[in-house]
Amino acid sequence: MENSNFGRARSSGQRSNGFRQGGSPMGESRGGFGGQRSDRPQGGFGGGQRQGGFGQRSERPQGGFGGGSRGGFGGGNRGGFGGNRQRSNRRPDEQISFGRYINKIDKAETVAEFIPKNKFADFEIHDQLKSNIIGKGYENPTPIQDSAIPQVLRGVDIVGLANTGTGKTAAFLIPLIDKVLKNPRENILVVVPTRELALQIENELKGFTRATPIYSVCCVGGMNIHGQIARLRNQNNFVIGTPGRLKDLIDRRRIDLSTFNTIVLDEVDQMLDMGFVHDMRYLMDQMPAERQTLFFSATLSPSIERIIGDFLKNPIRISVKTSDTSKSVDQDIVKLQRGENKIEVLHDLLAKAEFNKVLIFGRTKYGVEDLSNALRAKGFKSESIHGDKNNAGRQRALKSFKDGVSDILVATDVAARGLDIPNVSHVINYDLPATYDDYTHRIGRTGRAGKLGKALTFVM
Ligand code: AMP
Repeated sequence: MENSNFGRARSSGQRSNGFRQGGSPMGESRGGFGGQRSDRPQGGFGGGQRQGGFGQRSERPQGGFGGGSRGGFGGGNRGGFGGNRQRSNRRPDEQISFGRYINKIDKAETVAEFIPKNKFADFEIHDQLKSNIIGKGYENPTPIQDSAIPQVLRGVDIVGLANTGTGKTAAFLIPLIDKVLKNPRENILVVVPTRELALQIENELKGFTRATPIYSVCCVGGMNIHGQIARLRNQNNFVIGTPGRLKDLIDRRRIDLSTFNTIVLDEVDQMLDMGFVHDMRYLMDQMPAERQTLFFSATLSPSIERIIGDFLKNPIRISVKTSDTSKSVDQDIVKLQRGENKIEVLHDLLAKAEFNKVLIFGRTKYGVEDLSNALRAKGFKSESIHGDKNNAGRQRALKSFKDGVSDILVATDVAARGLDIPNVSHVINYDLPATYDDYTHRIGRTGRAGKLGKALTFVM
């Protein structure tokens, strides 16, 4: 395992937080991404450490931004949860070889542990915040928290290369809550691609701000704007929202970004994917030049580097490699034989006891709804989540799946990114993903937070 960071920390005798890293390099550096494409190995990143995490994307065909020109995938799947934006730069893979859906893992390989340099108790943060962290059951910082929290507390700009599932939400929320506790007049804007992610972040914020005078409002599309306007009349330290709705509220003079000195841009790669680039730039242009900017993305691309160059000041770059896919998700294909009925094969899998919390991906919202109904007809407790459902319906489906009321969630790709659903036992790609990126995000919904997951992909 070639990770000097972990080896060094381990010798300090600190305890692991149990988040599996499996040789994931993590590093910090000022500058040094060198404007390289994310989908090539990143030589200069992370203080010269190997950047293997994104190497898996190096096989992807370059170029060919097809705007969803593939047959099938775009059919009703666009816009999704993020508002009515079209995905502007989907990069369709012409052919993903089936071999890339297979990665049998040896359990023994997955238990390498990350040993944090810091403990939550050591951070110079408010005592109530510390006890709220303990109250949430967090024992030790995850890699991104270990690196980012001290830097954010210093007030510097951050570029974090990290996925959901790495503990990135708390990596920015904990130090920013402390910032507000030190200065109650502090206003913080958190911009995210989807309303689900916004609600999830607000939920996490509520856990961390128990017994503190910190208030928040979620400003996302697809929900009644008047309720949001009413809540914006109160003092809110955290405004969490999607770019389009935030812009709308600014244009209506309900949010004055000149009073915000901190902005978090989360899942920037997805925001670009969804065509939010102008709205993001619009938001940052409204903010004071003197501010703290925290920027998170799972990948880097020239357009992301451009935004970083235009809007961040000497950011500290933190990379948390997210090769969880290969390290914590056992991947295999389900090859349909001639004459086999796909739904029957699925049924036989779902009937097995170990398939106890299963996320199934379909290509179109119609297909997803049909499949969920068919599974319900077969006696499974299945819910669906896709862009045709209203927000309340999606939240209900998600909650039911999270709480274990239903044990199957059938989803379009919009559910693949950002959502944190604990203990998903299996991800099933009932329809093939359009791109390998989509595949990675789909299967990243299992094998999270130190657990082993399984991904099965149906192929003909
Ligand atoms: P995120 O990447 O922020 O979506 O977090 C992924 C999951 O890890 C969430 O369920 C968090 O509640 C959980 N989590 C985050 N940080 C920690 C930590 N330090 N210890 C244990 N669980 C954590």
